[in-house]
Amino acid sequence: MTGSLLLLISAFTNAQWYERSWNAMGTRIHVEVSDESESHANLLFDQVFREFYRLEESMSSYIDTSEVSIVNQNAAEAPVKVSRELIDLIKKSFQVSKISNGAFDITYASVGRYYDYRKNQAPDESQIEANLDAIDYRHVVVDEKASTISFTHPHVYIDLGGIAKGYAVDRAIDILRQGGVISGMVSAGGDTQLIGNKLGKPWIVGIKDPRREEESAVLLPLENTAISTSGDYERYFIQDGVRYHHIISPKTGRSAGEVQSVTILGPDSTTTDALSTTVFVLGVEKGLELVERLPGIDAIIVDQHRKMHYSSELSTPGE
Ligand code: ADP
Ligand code: MG
Repeated sequence: MTGSLLLLISAFTNAQWYERSWNAMGTRIHVEVSDESESHANLLFDQVFREFYRLEESMSSYIDTSEVSIVNQNAAEAPVKVSRELIDLIKKSFQVSKISNGAFDITYASVGRYYDYRKNQAPDESQIEANLDAIDYRHVVVDEKASTISFTHPHVYIDLGGIAKGYAVDRAIDILRQGGVISGMVSAGGDTQLIGNKLGKPWIVGIKDPRREEESAVLLPLENTAISTSGDYERYFIQDGVRYHHIISPKTGRSAGEVQSVTILGPDSTTTDALSTTVFVLGVEKGLELVERLPGIDAIIVDQHRKMHYSSELSTPGE
């Protein structure tokens, strides 16, 4: 009943399709909505744009004045007062650290900061050795009452690159939903979230082939879901046959090597973003083991031999 009523209503509306793209958070942001008014769609795009900008200004570790940078500069000496929002996102990152035995860890940057993918630079042995101990989320102390963060180890450095884009997508989706959007999407690099369907049909989301990026390894028909992909082809350089890329194993301080890409499906982008990085670090076996324990989460992994692995709910369609 409800379905046919909705169909009837939409047949009488003048909804049109609108889209906008721009660069932020070191990637391409893309937003699409179905809306009855172009000016309303533009208003929503402006709000979403400002929200990405606001979050980049507070969460980027490349911006010296961001909250995260101020924490990195001072939290080893004294507690640093930060926004509730940053506290909450850091706490969320700790939850992912706990369920993954530290495979996801925002302090990876204690060593990760010494990689420069544009300059083909990786940390040398001594830099890794001197800072590996600093990788441990338990060195980061959150005082919720005082709304402060402090570090209990002098070399700790945090980076929210594995979770902040997903968080920004969630905030953008909130803006669209509050603006009445029932059909739309937001994507920020590898993190995408879909509201409803597209003109009555499922959205078709392609997962890139990790070694032929113009081609899709799979096409997924999806509605109302978040999907994030982490790949070793996003930021990397190859030296002496070794691929140095931006997903770092907290145990070794080096690029995680077991798989080429991980796609996670789930209810929100903060979760799918963090988990795609997490499962990438864990590899096929431990990664799928984690995903199977998490209700509402699915995974598609491309391993080093280009073989695809699906979590059980995806691998037995129709059963
Ligand atoms: P992107 O969409 O930018 O490619 P991913 O979701 O694949 O991002 O996450 C990679 C980013 O996560 C890195 O650029 C880095 O900022 C951060 N990161 C790398 N290794 C880890 C880790 N072990 N735990 C948490 N964050 C990490
Ligand atoms: Mg991620």
